[in-house]
This record gives sequence, structure tokens and C-alpha cells, in this order.
Amino acid sequence: MKDFPTNKLKGLTTPFYFYNIDLLRETLNVVKQESEKYENFYVHYAVKANANPRILSIIAANGFGADCVSGGEIKAAIKAGFSPDKIVYAGVGKADWEINLGLDAGIFCFNVESAAELEIINELAAAKGKIASVALRINPEVKVDTHHYITTGLKENKFGINLDKLDDVLDMIPKLSNIKLVGLHFHIGSQILDMASFVGLCVRVNDIQQKLYARRIIVDHINVGGGLGIDYSHPEKQPIPDFEDYFAVFDKHLQLSPNQSLHFELGRSMVGQCGSLITKVLYVKEGSVKNFVIVDAGMTDLIRPALYEAYHKIENISSDLAEEKYDVVGPICESSDCFGKEQYLNKTQRNDLIALRSAGAYGEIMASQYNCRQLPKAYFSDELI
Ligand SMILES: *Cc1c(COP(=O)(O)O)cnc(C)c1O
Repeated sequence: MKDFPTNKLKGLTTPFYFYNIDLLRETLNVVKQESEKYENFYVHYAVKANANPRILSIIAANGFGADCVSGGEIKAAIKAGFSPDKIVYAGVGKADWEINLGLDAGIFCFNVESAAELEIINELAAAKGKIASVALRINPEVKVDTHHYITTGLKENKFGINLDKLDDVLDMIPKLSNIKLVGLHFHIGSQILDMASFVGLCVRVNDIQQKLYARRIIVDHINVGGGLGIDYSHPEKQPIPDFEDYFAVFDKHLQLSPNQSLHFELGRSMVGQCGSLITKVLYVKEGSVKNFVIVDAGMTDLIRPALYEAYHKIENISSDLAEEKYDVVGPICESSDCFGKEQYLNKTQRNDLIALRSAGAYGEIMASQYNCRQLPKAYFSDELI
């Protein structure tokens, strides 16, 4: 309850996202401070986690690069003030217009996911008389303990070039005169809290670099993607992830060549804890075996619980009565439209405000208009009157 200016939020039309801008700035400062301990580390913010224009512009103003996965994100990033020469662009299905947009903007690097894509980028760059800088996105085949929908670095995932195809792709590169190989790119998944997964990635990257050295290839940069998780269970105890530990793992375990830089693409860890979805209680329904709190936000506003069985801490920010047990559900006509089962909330009544915590990443950006609903608005802690 203490974390929210409930009185100021009461008059606003629900549901909406509420962003704690102080926490965002603090988090960004820690990311900066911890990454700048190492002179060759560069952080790109993964725009897909949250592309709210204000959030983007604050991150851009702090000097971070951007990691984009679509032409639309490249446009949004540039509009928010990210420098094109700090934009990396990944994605298994880049359309021609998106590649052309990247070429015209002069982005830092295309993270290329297949031989077929490499040929098309070469062709489109040739048509413009340009040289495209590319990193090969390699599927590192590192297993990660996270929900299977958000693992990306396994052989059966659609992302990246499989290790057994790497030699073939490397053979192609000298023949493609409008491509310059500048890096290797990896991304093993998301919401990773076990540092052993990142150590596993480092070990694999070291192996792959040895293979490249044997072919006399030393790339300018290694990009290890993102994936650092946040504490969904205790947003108040751990509002800022352990970036110190995270960067130290790579410093310790990754063997870089002299002059090689190391790039990161962090999404969730930079914005996850600063956002909450605020929703109003419509009804408290007493069932025969359990009680339901029916709120005015649904999976259309925050889809993570329905999509990944994700947990968000739920708090009643209007009540300090004794706690009771409820299922908290939305109004959408889908059984998966449930935010939490058997959650302990302060005794809840109609019109109470409920906060779904840790919703700053993959929240607002994933909202839809299913059931002809309106998209949720966003409010910022420093702009409330
Ligand atoms: C989604 C994604 C990220 C960001 O992941 P987080 O878990 O939010 O840090 C980084 N790189 C790539 C290629 C991605 O697809």
C-alpha cells in the first residue's frame, strides 16, 4: 500500500499502467554504473519490453542503445531519441522494408538469423550501394530454467543459426560483397535468475570463438542478448535486479579478444519493476468454494498470466483490513483471464484499487483490444497532480 499514491490514483479512469519514474531512473543509474565498470561493455535496451514513448525517451536520454525486433521498433526508437548507430536489429522474419529502413537509418548492426536472410540483406544493401554490418545470431543450445514459451536458445527453437550450420554460413560471407561481419549474437531466453545459465552461455561463446579463431576470424563484438530476470514475488524487497552480479559473470567467464566489445540487450530487468497495472474492483463474488474478486482489467491489459502462467504480485492499495483469500479475475470471456488464484488480499470491496505489480515489462506493450476493449492508458509518478 505504501508504494502507491492511492489518493492521487483514485480519480483516474481504470485500468491503467502506473510507472514509478524515480524507480526507473534509479534502475537505469545502476545499470549504467555497473556496466561502466567495464570499459568495453555496452547496453542496448530491448524495446519490445516496453515501448511507451515516455519510457523510451528517458532510457534514450540516459545514453543507452536500443535492441529492436521490427521496423516499427526501429522507428519508435529513433523517434524517442536513440542514436541509430546504437541500434541493433534482430528477428527471424525481417521484411524487405524493414531491412531497407535499417540500411537507410544506418543502424549499428543487423543480427542475422539465417543464411537466407544474409543473402537478402546483401542484395538490398547492394541495391543501395551500402555495406550492411551484420552479427550472426547463433543458437547456442544452452538450456535455461524458465517457462518453455520464453526459452530461445535450444535447437528446436526458431531463433538463430544452428551450430552445425555455422561453418556453411561463414563460408558464404566472403562471397557477399555488401555484408561486413562485425559480431556474434546470442540470446538464451528471458526471466533468467540463475546465473549458471549465463555462465553456460559464456562457456559456449568461448568455444565458438575458438572455432572462429581457427578460421582466422575475430569479430569486433560479442552480443550476449538479454534475459536477466526480476523478482516478481518481492517487488518491494528487490525493486532493482542484481546488475552487479550479472555483469561480473560475463567479465569473469567470457574470454574476449583485445579490442572486442561486449554488448547486452536488457529488457525486462530495466523496466519490469517500475510499472504496475492499476485496476478497480467491480464485484466481489462469493462462490461456494472460493471468493472471486472481479476487476476491470483483463488479459487484454496484461496478458502474461494467461500466456505464460506468469505470477504478478497482487495488492489491494485501498484497503488495510485483514487479509482474505481470493481468486482475482478479469472480465474477458476466456477462462485463462485470471490474474491469480488463492491470493491473499486485504479484505476487498467494490471500487477498491488493485495493483498488479512488476508489470513494466511485456505489459502495456502487449495490450490488445480483444472484446472491443480500449487500450489501457499510462500515468507517470512525476506527472500526477
Ligand atoms: C526479448 C529479447 C531481449 C530482451 O529480453 P529480456 O528478457 O527482456 O531482457 C533481448 N534480445 C533479444 C534478441 C530478444 O528477443
